[in-house]
Amino acid sequence: MVVSSGISLIAMTMMLFVSLLFVAEHVLFGLAAYHDAQSQGNPDAVIWGLAVGFLGIIPGIIYLCVRGSGRRLVRCANCGYPHDASDFCCPKCGEKNPAAAEANPYAQVLASRARKEMIGGIAVIAAGILLMILVMLFFGVFMMRYRVIF
Ligand SMILES: [Zn+2]
Repeated sequence: MVVSSGISLIAMTMMLFVSLLFVAEHVLFGLAAYHDAQSQGNPDAVIWGLAVGFLGIIPGIIYLCVRGSGRRLVRCANCGYPHDASDFCCPKCGEKNPAAAEANPYAQVLASRARKEMIGGIAVIAAGILLMILVMLFFGVFMMRYRVIF
């Protein structure tokens, strides 16, 4: 049937698009983990980046769990709140922490890059979900109209 082969073609194109989004999301989260680990001076940044990039969610969760371990705490010069030595600002009052910038001046650049990649990855997932919903709606309408059975 002409209609159903046309639909199959559209379905295949959509599937290809969704898998491309899937790959893009993995790459973005891998890069985010890599730059985040680098910004914290983690010597295993490459391994984390690759693990999250290739395997996705599970190493991602493990990374988030171990991310904060082995950190040094400092007290805020303004309000005395104890926070991580690698934080650029006090999480409570926003006072700048000069020690972080001195320890690794490039860390802030890496941290903001990691944040952007993370947001990019989330945006890609959102786009993928939206696309899937559109595809389902599209096929729903088509099936009702032409009574196509795949
Ligand atoms: Zn403070």
